[in-house]
Amino acid sequence: MYCRFYAELNDFLPPDERQRVLARRLDAPGSVKDVIEGFGVPHPEVELVLVNGRPVEFGCLVAEGDRVAVYPRFRRLPAPGPPLRVPWTGEPRFLLDVHLGRLASYLRLAGFDAAYANDATDAALAAASREEGRALLTRDRGLLKRREVERGYWVRETQPRRQLAEVLRRFDLAGRLQPLARCGRCNGRLAPVGKAAVEADLPPRTRREQHEFHRCDRCGRVYWRGSHVARIERLLARAIGGG
Ligand SMILES: [Zn+2]
Repeated sequence: MYCRFYAELNDFLPPDERQRVLARRLDAPGSVKDVIEGFGVPHPEVELVLVNGRPVEFGCLVAEGDRVAVYPRFRRLPAPGPPLRVPWTGEPRFLLDVHLGRLASYLRLAGFDAAYANDATDAALAAASREEGRALLTRDRGLLKRREVERGYWVRETQPRRQLAEVLRRFDLAGRLQPLARCGRCNGRLAPVGKAAVEADLPPRTRREQHEFHRCDRCGRVYWRGSHVARIERLLARAIGGG
């Protein structure tokens, strides 16, 4: 069979296999999912597969001699076939693996629902991403290859600020930033709260100088404008600017 991966799917291939048709012998027919993951490309990264020019599902069998074209998400052009999964609608929701705690916190500060637990097993992450309809963000390609994972993305960058920029770009989130919507520490929602309710817990200078406060409905952490929000806004400005 012959296989060609397009655009950023080449990130998963060794340098000498990128951007070209790859020939492989198939001793027995294999599913589309198994064939493309055999090349190292996890199925959640894939949005469209054509076998001999026709769109197919992941369970379809590929046989010797077939020509397979594998595409990531289409950004500018309409996809030349129906997508492999129902388009994501509503509020974007993420689940991050145990190594991406800082990115989880940044996504929350940008206002996005980003679940994270530093003791979750791979099996629990894969199951939760499906059950809760969350896109699984990970640096672990093996985790993304699990059958239960429907939506997911392999984070290419290793530095958290650059990871934030990468994820905002990949999921088209730049226009949906909402600083002061979520708690960076626990993913709870923030709500405005009167000064009188939080005054006793504030550092003296904040008590003097700040007048607008938000409190997390889950852990109770208090956020205020001033240096707190300025820091978040700088982080987001840099991320949108390309990290
Ligand atoms: Zn909180």
